[in-house]
Amino acid sequence: MTEVAKTTVVRTRAELRAALADAARPVGLVPTMGWLHEGHRALMRGARAESATVVVSIFVNPRQFNVASDFTRYPRNEARDLAMCEVEGVDLVFAPDVEEIYPPGFATTVSVGAVALPLEGAARPGHFDGVATVVAILFDLVGAERAYFGQKDAQQVMVIRQMARDLAIGTEVVTCPTIREPDGLALSSRNVHLTPDERAAAPVLRRALLAARDAWRAGERDGERLRDEMFEILTQEPLADVEYVSIADAVTLEELTTVDRPALASLAVRFGTTRLIDNEILDTTTGTATDRGL
Ligand code: AMP
Repeated sequence: MTEVAKTTVVRTRAELRAALADAARPVGLVPTMGWLHEGHRALMRGARAESATVVVSIFVNPRQFNVASDFTRYPRNEARDLAMCEVEGVDLVFAPDVEEIYPPGFATTVSVGAVALPLEGAARPGHFDGVATVVAILFDLVGAERAYFGQKDAQQVMVIRQMARDLAIGTEVVTCPTIREPDGLALSSRNVHLTPDERAAAPVLRRALLAARDAWRAGERDGERLRDEMFEILTQEPLADVEYVSIADAVTLEELTTVDRPALASLAVRFGTTRLIDNEILDTTTGTATDRGL
């Protein structure tokens, strides 16, 4: 018989602090916006393997949506999310409402520098301010030894790592590999909005990234040619509306003319009203299952 541990749900900062006061250490935190899927579950398992107490936050953070309609239509199903947390042996779920995180009079924004500016930062103004602000609050409230994030949002991990370092927050940021559908599409809460035709077309993101990776593995070091390679594959798909393709320095995220150092291949593509992102690291020295640095 399998025993399923009970997950405690708290909704206020005070309840969270009280629940954590005598929690067994180390504590592992998995911040999410809910509508949980296998990608989130992999983070929970990573946390479970290394922590005595696992905390999952479920909070659709209005400040990281630069388009209001994207926030309102973001999928939500708390009952299903909680059941999933229970199955994964999560000890504590923090599911606050917006006013609990941003009470009246809230006036601080955490704004991370250069690494937050290109790519997603340029395409979604204000997005990383919202992310860094909420994650700083969560890191402070939970005081976890480690927090777990997905490689799918590679720039987000870099922004959070920079924020934690600069603000002297003692939570270690752990990156977990991207979980995919069998056809290569990265799992995302947003995939639910794809029409059947768009869903069928969406694996083109992965194909474009793998083509760039293959070319790079075969010795191509011209950044523009690698970007072109991805762009051409994406534009062969009529439903794909390319927002950006990038081959950037994996540390600074500056676009590379010559790929003479570890690089991040990344792209953002719209299918109708749904925006998808994905990435692949071009580096001979990484590729392990749990990567603690990018
Ligand atoms: P979200 O709920 O979309 O804000 O994501 C919460 C966390 O799950 C973030 O650290 C994401 O990077 C991570 N995540 C989302 N999708 C995946 C995926 N397909 N594989 C691994 N991690 C993911």
